Amino acid sequence: MSTTPVFPTASLLGYPRIGRRRELKKAIEAFWSGSIDEAALDTAAKEIQLVTARRLSDLGLNEDAAIPGTFSYYDQVLDVSTHIGAVPSRFGDLRNAAGELDINAYFTLARGTAEVQPLEMTKWFDTNYHFLVPEIGPETNFSLTSKRIVEQFEFAKANGFVTRPYLVGPVTYLLLSKASLDAPAGFSPLSRLEDILPVYAELLAALAAAGATWVQLDEPALVADQQVDVAVIQNAVARSYEVLTAGKRPAILVSTPFGALNELLPTLAASSIDALHVDAFKGAVPSADELALLAGKTVVAGVVDGHNIWRNDLAASAARLDAFKAAGLSVAVSTSTSTQHVPYDVEQESQLSPQLRSWLAFADQKAAEVVTLAAYLADPASAAHAIAEATAVIASRAAAPGVNRPAVRARLAALTTADFNRSAYEVREAAQEEALALPPLPTTTIGSFPQTSEIRSARARANKGTITGAEYGQLMKAEIKRVVDLQEDIGFDVLVHGEPERNDMVQYFAENLEGFSVTVHGWVQSYGSRCTRPSILWGDVTREAPITVEWARYAQSLTDKPMKGMLTGPVTILAWSFVRDDQPLGETANQVGLALRDEIADLEAAGIKIIQVDEPALRELLPLRHADQASYLDWSVNSFRLATAGAGDATSIHTHLCYSEFGVIIDAIDGLDADVTSIEAARSRMEVVNDLETHGFGRGVGPGVYDIHSPRVPGQGEVTELLGTAVKHVPVRQLWVNPDCGLKTRGYAETEKSLRNLVNATKEVRAQL
Ligand code: GLN
Ligand code: ZN
Repeated sequence: MSTTPVFPTASLLGYPRIGRRRELKKAIEAFWSGSIDEAALDTAAKEIQLVTARRLSDLGLNEDAAIPGTFSYYDQVLDVSTHIGAVPSRFGDLRNAAGELDINAYFTLARGTAEVQPLEMTKWFDTNYHFLVPEIGPETNFSLTSKRIVEQFEFAKANGFVTRPYLVGPVTYLLLSKASLDAPAGFSPLSRLEDILPVYAELLAALAAAGATWVQLDEPALVADQQVDVAVIQNAVARSYEVLTAGKRPAILVSTPFGALNELLPTLAASSIDALHVDAFKGAVPSADELALLAGKTVVAGVVDGHNIWRNDLAASAARLDAFKAAGLSVAVSTSTSTQHVPYDVEQESQLSPQLRSWLAFADQKAAEVVTLAAYLADPASAAHAIAEATAVIASRAAAPGVNRPAVRARLAALTTADFNRSAYEVREAAQEEALALPPLPTTTIGSFPQTSEIRSARARANKGTITGAEYGQLMKAEIKRVVDLQEDIGFDVLVHGEPERNDMVQYFAENLEGFSVTVHGWVQSYGSRCTRPSILWGDVTREAPITVEWARYAQSLTDKPMKGMLTGPVTILAWSFVRDDQPLGETANQVGLALRDEIADLEAAGIKIIQVDEPALRELLPLRHADQASYLDWSVNSFRLATAGAGDATSIHTHLCYSEFGVIIDAIDGLDADVTSIEAARSRMEVVNDLETHGFGRGVGPGVYDIHSPRVPGQGEVTELLGTAVKHVPVRQLWVNPDCGLKTRGYAETEKSLRNLVNATKEVRAQL
């Protein structure tokens, strides 16, 4: 390249793409169902890209390359897979006549077919966004199989917007990949680096030819500790950016969201990339020595948090920018991460109080903050007013009613170790055996039953006011009775009420606790066309009145079998909400823990003998750096113990976790001290029981024997076989039999058959004990 173009002084690292009214979700689902064709889908996608470009430009991101080209039909990792030809062999050849992986191939990889399993999904760093895991082996045949991102750039350019195309960088891509099924044991996808780099280079050349001035290569894996030695990663980074900077290409920005680069900063500094983004919000401003290494490059300072929704402390950001500037570098302003993790626009939430709204910044507000801070860099005086306003708002937040509730704080301060500990397990086990009198291999489910369209429509009508609260309550009770009768008929030992009254396992509690608010349009992409609407946890948390008790009492009144009370644990409530950033997460978690503790006491008083506290998100918040993990596990485990340790010896506390890879957190799971833990296991064919055996897990455990993530009905013989494996590794007296997650997303047709097979298989195995 002759001269490097100037990097835009204000930009976002990424922007939501699901559409301000979830237009993409609607278009994609319509395309899948066949009600619109590919051309109509394309039109909808283009409209979203144009609306985004216009909006960001209006907000002041109007320099070339300021608008991130982060539109995606489904997932940014899948985008790379379909551009470089990374298709696992089980799909056969998905290329069309032109040799390309078109939109049909793209969705086939994402969703699978009746015969072929889709790519596996897993969480993107410490967010609740899920990407599709590439499967790479020695056999993967890399070549340029799509130019979609080039076409998207050309489309925006034709409409007057020079965007900044985005690609997950090669090192992150391979570090996030897993070895394909065809690969030999011990194969590392990173060993294919030399083979994917030419394809990336070809794509960069095509972008340059189309007129792209800058391209963004996203390398978040560089801020997370990996299994591989850091020297191996340093070599991979050096080699990648040696190859990618050598050819014809746009100027290259490498972005590194989610934390500090540590040992990899010097490596990137030594490369010929043109700009480096550092996360100066969750990470830190690099030291003066580190900054000195970046001389000659633009540093893109990610000072505005892209991952949470609080209004930026502009004074603090200005101070960070000053530190970059003091190093004599050319500095630009951006977000710490893509804003795809937050909703579009606070101004859409007119039902929130103006005060709460003034504390918040969604993606559009963050764009404005970035623009303000860029103006500050050029002329500090120009931003003085905005900075003073942000400071005043943050002060008002600290002093606002509900943010700081003395009674909650006093209760927390008075806690002692005894509040976190129950009696010895042996004592509890004996008391529970007597209270429950369950057969060996007790059968149960994880909590939710299918959310039918009748249930959803009743809720929608109740929200609109077309039915009364009392009518809604009657409909839910009828549903509970139906679900209880069904379980009795199938022959379950421990019943659930089915959770029909819950829109979502976190939002339901957020709506019923003080300290939370919920949004109307605050959708955030979770995966593909699926979105969640996280609640906002802004104040001290209290429980004004029992939440689940009346439902549980009613459900228990319908049966002589034990009915499980069903709660969501503190870590999961935090993980799936936007959480206040003005105090340590552990303190907030303990406040939620105390509210749940009171709920558990009320459930016990209402005659509920088994209470399940779900913690499916325990793994998700695990810090990316090993050094930070112990303290996380400490506060997260403690908040669960605080929630549950008030229960009497005879009350059985269950928990449910949504994954089977126990690895790093098995000690933490043990530390929860639940009487029974149900986990995922069906997909991995019970591999987890080996871990449990090795670990010497001593309390009750229910490895899921029915994979609820697919409509497939497991045969009775299949379940018998899985149970046969389980009893070889886990003592029978500890074993429970259950599906591997809640049934909420399933239909009744397959659910009922599967559950009957599960119970009948258990009877078969029991008879042989
Ligand atoms: N009790 C919840 C349910 O059954 C648990 C869901 C989850 O772990 N994600 O839906
Ligand atoms: Zn689950």
